[in-house]
Amino acid sequence: SSALVWFRRDLRVDDQAALFHALKGARKVWCVFVFDSTILDALPRQDRRVEFIHDSVAVLDAELRALALSHGVHDVGLIVRHGAAVEEIPKLAQQLGAVAVYANHDDEPYAQERDRRVRGALAGAGIALHTSKDHVIFERDEVLTEGGPSYRVFTPYKNAWLRKLSPFYLRAYPVARYADHLAPCPSALARPLPSLTDLGFQTSNLHELKLPSGSTGALELLDDFLERIDAYDHARDYPAIKGPSYLSVHLRFGTVSIRRLARLAYERVEAGSKGAQTWLSELIWRDFYHQILYHHPHVVGNAFKREYDAIHWEKGKAADALFKAWCEGRTGYPLVDAAMLQLNRSGYMHNRLRMVTACFLIKDLGIDWRRGEAYFAEKLNDFDLAANNGGWQWAASTGCDAQPYFRIFNPVTQSEKFDAEGRFIKRYLPQLASLPAKLIHAPWLAKPPELEACGLVLGRDYATPIVRHDEARIATLKRYEVVKAPK
Ligand code: FAD
Repeated sequence: SSALVWFRRDLRVDDQAALFHALKGARKVWCVFVFDSTILDALPRQDRRVEFIHDSVAVLDAELRALALSHGVHDVGLIVRHGAAVEEIPKLAQQLGAVAVYANHDDEPYAQERDRRVRGALAGAGIALHTSKDHVIFERDEVLTEGGPSYRVFTPYKNAWLRKLSPFYLRAYPVARYADHLAPCPSALARPLPSLTDLGFQTSNLHELKLPSGSTGALELLDDFLERIDAYDHARDYPAIKGPSYLSVHLRFGTVSIRRLARLAYERVEAGSKGAQTWLSELIWRDFYHQILYHHPHVVGNAFKREYDAIHWEKGKAADALFKAWCEGRTGYPLVDAAMLQLNRSGYMHNRLRMVTACFLIKDLGIDWRRGEAYFAEKLNDFDLAANNGGWQWAASTGCDAQPYFRIFNPVTQSEKFDAEGRFIKRYLPQLASLPAKLIHAPWLAKPPELEACGLVLGRDYATPIVRHDEARIATLKRYEVVKAPK
């Protein structure tokens, strides 16, 4: 029998569930990646993620070739197509004479609908679609409360997750065992990897960033992080230092296996590493938000707690101007602005700063969290619907296990606490470099001679604050009162 493996958000050969199941179940296996025009057409023409995927697909092709060659099979490469996946996959499967297509679960609503359509088209041609869990440790209904419904609060979910964990769930799929089943693509169907230009995109600044792509890049970052993992629990909160793993984009596109990461973390937890324990907890947050999206797809576009959709957000020209200032890093609050500049320039933002900037947009500017969510979705290299939506609803207090609405981050206090010396701020706002640490968090509080001594003119070299935090706080508490109103 023969099968086709359809790669999506799992761009690696190592420990890849769909690839393993196909190789085990069929004598002849081909692999395909589709640059899906349905997704790509909606993106700006310069997008780091498309470039990251493009690079990672080239690495995947090389990995497949090397794996096949080490088992004596020549000319095996990744088949690449550019078009609508719902058409390309059934067409290719038929051309190859495959009896089955294998893929990994993707529980985003869009992907589920796409897969439903592909399954239907394949079924019409007598071809089966087999899908497996690959992207998370536990998915869908695997971790439920005792009474049956899904968890809505993280800590009990995490405890249940840890109770369920066993070596079985962390075991790698031994893909190499059946690698001799990989088959060369018939020459009539082979096409060279399209260039970025062929796909209609321009290069971005991806290659100037310290962000190696592909599975090789993921392992580079992982090796580096494993040297630092023990310090993660305290280093993770300070954006000026190299605390986190920077693996999120690799987890997003599956250039690294979640089982490998969870296994490595778990081994270190067993050895007593507090850092690894905290990091494993972050990986569990990732599973948590994935199961939330699966069980509660209404979170896309709506508050998880529906009563919060009654909140009235600022709208109109003035609100648009505030939103624009937030996007462009011109709020006058240095930590918020530096964070937004980090996002705009690199596609990455430190977790602490995602919380600070999200809270600022929602609770200092009174702007609908969905606008911020959409902006992050456009800019983040690691944009993941489940995690991004979860993060925004957490900050907006509209989500499951969110921070209560009356907890409003003070952007100045956050800055003093997590970037005390202003090292992170100065990296993105060099015009503030000569300000002493005590003034850098709130330059508007400096006396005119102090500003003069630094050659800084507020309003010219750096924005004056677009909002007063104390006033905004009161307005926000009022705004959220509607939630407390009797139903
Ligand atoms: P590390 O600290 O090394 O964490 C390891 C991994 O754990 C991450 O790569 C990620 O996969 C996972 N993780 C960590 N924190 C969370 C979390 N709170 N929720 C879910 N998973 C988590 N993460 C995304 O992957 N994509 C997003 O689109 C995204 N949007 C966010 C939006 C907001 C408003 C907030 C507050 C958080 C968001 N996060 C998102 C979560 C988190 O900020 C990033 O995962 C993290 O900063 C990525 O950096 P890292 O890989 O160095 O993380």
